[in-house]
Amino acid sequence: MTDTLSTTPTTDAPAAADERSALDVARDEFRAEILAAGLLVDAGQPGLYGRSGLFDDIVDGLCAYVARSFADQKPERYRFAPVMSRDEYELTDYIVSFPQLAGTVNGFRGTDADHRQLIAARERGEAWDPYLVPAETTLVSAVCHPVYERLRGTLPEGGRVINVRGFSFRHEPSNDPMRLQAFRMQELVFLGDPAAAKTFRDVMSQRQVKGLQELGLDAKIVAANDPFFGRTGKFLASNQLADEAKLEVVVKIYGDLDEGTAIASGNHAGAHFGPIFGIDQADGTPAHSSCMAWGLERVTLALLRTHGLDVAAWPESVKADLGLSHVGA
Ligand code: ATP
Ligand code: MG
Ligand code: ZN
Repeated sequence: MTDTLSTTPTTDAPAAADERSALDVARDEFRAEILAAGLLVDAGQPGLYGRSGLFDDIVDGLCAYVARSFADQKPERYRFAPVMSRDEYELTDYIVSFPQLAGTVNGFRGTDADHRQLIAARERGEAWDPYLVPAETTLVSAVCHPVYERLRGTLPEGGRVINVRGFSFRHEPSNDPMRLQAFRMQELVFLGDPAAAKTFRDVMSQRQVKGLQELGLDAKIVAANDPFFGRTGKFLASNQLADEAKLEVVVKIYGDLDEGTAIASGNHAGAHFGPIFGIDQADGTPAHSSCMAWGLERVTLALLRTHGLDVAAWPESVKADLGLSHVGA
């Protein structure tokens, strides 16, 4: 994200003051246009929106387009809630690498007396959440996370491909409509032998960018890194970049102000998830994995930026690919 070579600088990214303000203006303008067109609805916090029916139709069309384009992989489909088991979240190590983005769930476990204290604090205008304690769940940070525990055991020969889609939460409030706190991600996850996991990511990344280009997007692939937290994080990020463990499909949303925003990514997780979740290859050694991800709101916004906010006037071929030919017909 922020500190990748490839993506949009965000509020926490160092940038020249004048460059930053021009970019901020461009983001504010785009956000205002999208809201004025009623495509997104302000839900009261930076990066939190409702979607219009039309916006959702584009997202649905995109998911169907991805499903069609990758049908040869015969993925198994899973859908999960935006909330997952805390125990499984622990296993992913997300909180180690990205504490700044995580979201946890708290619940009330107190007595009547504790409840009275909570209400009194609230009436005094004080915070009431100190009366809550962590629940057994967390918000989902990446939609593949709830998949792994379900695959515990031995994979079939050739591995498995999973199609998973859902909401992700990331605590990164921003004025950029491309950076949301709650957004949907479509993923294709591969688990199998090490060479196949790497090949899957490399081959599918090429197909991913091609598919997005065929929708008229001026998209390209770049090597990228995740925003690992803290001082050790910088080291992890530079390793990830050097290993090309993460590829991003980027589109310039704000012209020259923008180094390119990631609308999709291809992540080679290697031996991270297999050993942690006890997922073995057919030969009994730990599985390797990789994930292809599409940011559904980001692709939709990139399409709106590229083809205009009037979906009826989009190129017929793009509308047809996304099942939107009826719009304006
Ligand atoms: P970025 O570098 O922009 O922060 P990321 O590296 O964190 O993106 P991934 O973890 O690879 O992104 O997530 C997969 C996809 O989900 C991204 O390619 C992007 O399209 C989308 N995505 C990630 N973060 C956000 C966000 N805050 N708002 C909207 N979409 C997002
Ligand atoms: Mg990010
Ligand atoms: Zn994933």
